[in-house]
Amino acid sequence: MGFCSDMKIIIAIDGFSSGGKSTFAREIAARLGYIFIDSGAMYRAVTLYALQHGAIRNGILDEDKLVGMLDDIDIVFRFNPARGASDIYVNGEYAEGKIRTIEVSNFVSAVSSVPQVRRKLVAMQQEMGRNRGVVMDGRDIGTVVFPDAELKIFLTADPAVRARRRYQELAAKGMDVSLEEIERNIRERDEADQSRDVSPLRKAEDAVVLDNSYMTLDEQMAWVTDKLCNI
Ligand code: C5P
Repeated sequence: MGFCSDMKIIIAIDGFSSGGKSTFAREIAARLGYIFIDSGAMYRAVTLYALQHGAIRNGILDEDKLVGMLDDIDIVFRFNPARGASDIYVNGEYAEGKIRTIEVSNFVSAVSSVPQVRRKLVAMQQEMGRNRGVVMDGRDIGTVVFPDAELKIFLTADPAVRARRRYQELAAKGMDVSLEEIERNIRERDEADQSRDVSPLRKAEDAVVLDNSYMTLDEQMAWVTDKLCNI
């Protein structure tokens, strides 16, 4: 890829749910030899732990209980050469599949709006980017985690297109979900992510917008190559 400089930078990719951020970020990282970090996986990991340890019961999040267990939650990424990306482990347990269920998706916005959760994960994310050479995707990467990122991308896509992509992804993994359920979850998460008090999803002033509704990954890569050469 024609990245026009040897300087290691930080690339922040923010945007709505199921907008193809991770696929795009992973591909950029692979081409540049950078580390890819899926920050949403970290919020999902905390949510999984909360579900497994009784901080979410009968559909209700007990914030105090969750905050009380935050120090016990150990999140680690380990590079998986077969996937060309890192897998997430929660307290030593492989959790890639478990964090992507609709149950976790239904509670992750509530968990990620707890300030103490954000404080812990943002500190971890900033540490991961200390040596730069990182592509990180999420909701607040360009605004809060790395406000000094050299390239900030705000990814958008038509909600119906996003729901279809997510449906195909989960169906391919054999998960039993309906398109309606996914559409509802995406709509609710977009709304919750944009309206929460702490670090709401919003475009950084200096972010460039990319609507990838009808773009192939190759077209997105051509777009980002152009941006990288003009930093
Ligand atoms: O990216 P993904 O859809 O897997 O993220 C799951 C959820 O985690 C989002 O809906 C959002 O509530 C939360 N999140 C966040 N800040 C980030 C990344 C994800 O609040 N940087």
